[in-house]
Amino acid sequence: MNGIVYKSTGSWYTVKSETGEFVECRIKGKFRIKGIKSTNPIAVGDWVTYELDKTSDVITGVITAITDRRNYIVRKSVNLSKQVHIIASNVDQMFILVTINNPITTTSFIDRFLITAEAYGIQAVLVFNKIDTLDETALEDQLYLQYIYSQIGYPCLRISATTGQGIDDLKVMMKDKVSMFTGHSGVGKSTLINVLQPGLALKTNQISEQHQQGQHTTTFAEMFDLDFGAKIIDTPGIRGFGIVDMEKTEVTDYFPEFFALKDQCKFNNCLHKEEPHCAVKDALENEEVSWSRYRSYLQILEGDDEQHHYRTDVY
Ligand code: GDP
Ligand code: ZN
Repeated sequence: MNGIVYKSTGSWYTVKSETGEFVECRIKGKFRIKGIKSTNPIAVGDWVTYELDKTSDVITGVITAITDRRNYIVRKSVNLSKQVHIIASNVDQMFILVTINNPITTTSFIDRFLITAEAYGIQAVLVFNKIDTLDETALEDQLYLQYIYSQIGYPCLRISATTGQGIDDLKVMMKDKVSMFTGHSGVGKSTLINVLQPGLALKTNQISEQHQQGQHTTTFAEMFDLDFGAKIIDTPGIRGFGIVDMEKTEVTDYFPEFFALKDQCKFNNCLHKEEPHCAVKDALENEEVSWSRYRSYLQILEGDDEQHHYRTDVY
C-alpha cells in the first residue's frame, strides 16, 4: 500500500493511505535512505510504501520503501553537526508573508528566504499581507517591492487576512499542492491560516506562548488537509526554517536575475564585485537589476565563514 507521511514523532509515522485512512507505521528493521546523513530516515511529506501488520489488535503498518524525494528542507541537528534533520519533503511551494509595516519585513530578509527556496528547489511565492493598512507611502513601497520581485519571476499576491482581499487567489494557488508558510512573527500567519480553514488548530501560537513561559518543548512538523483541496505543512517551534550551506560561487546562482546574466560576464567565475566587464554590475548601473538585491547579495557573500560556506537562517 502507498501513502504520504503526515506526522512523525520519532519511531512512529502517521501515514495517510491513497484511500484516505490514517495508519500508524513503524520502519522495517534497518531501513535507511541512501545518500543523506539525517537523524530521521523518514519525514513529513514522504511518499512511502507500507504493509499492514494485522498480528496485533490495533492495525498498524510497516514502512518498506520510500519514493525518491523531489526536494526536502532541513535543519542542522543540534548535537551532531554533520547530520541534518529533515523537516519536510516534497514541498510544492513556500509562501513568505511580507508586511510593509507592523512588523517591517526587510528586503534582506526576503532575499535570504528566496535564496534558501532556490537552493532547495522549491517555488517561492511572496504574499503581501495587511494590504488594508497601507497609507500612500506604504502603498508605494509595497508596489515597488512587488515590481522588483515579479520582474525576477516570483509570483506575488496582495492580501488582507482581515478583510479577505486576495484570499480566493491564494486558495487557487494552493489547491492540489503542498504549501508551507513563513514570515516574521506578527505578519499574520495564524490569522491567515484561520481564514483559510476556520477552526484548524495549528500549534504555531501555542508553542510561542510556551516558549515565553520558558518551557522546553519538542515539536514535530505536521501536514494538514484543508477543505478546499490543499495541503499545508505546519512547523511549530522550528526556528531557522531552512539552513543551507553553499559555496561562494553558488550564491550568485540562487539570484535568478544574476544567474541569467552570468554568461555575459567576462569571467565565468565572476562574483560581480571588483571584476571587469561584469554584466551584473552593468545591469545594476542600467537599473535592470535592483540595488536592494545586489546589497543582499553582498551581505550574504560577506557572511562568509572560515570554511567558505554560507549559512542562511530564515526565521
Ligand atoms: P503571526 O505571528 O504571524 O501568527 O501573526 P498573527 O496572525 O497573530 O497576527 C498579528 C496581528 O496582525 C494580529 O493582531 C492580527 O489581527 C493582525 N493582522 C493579521 N492579518 C492582518 C491583516 O491583513 N490586516 C490587518 N489590519 N491586521 C492583520
Ligand atoms: Zn559578473
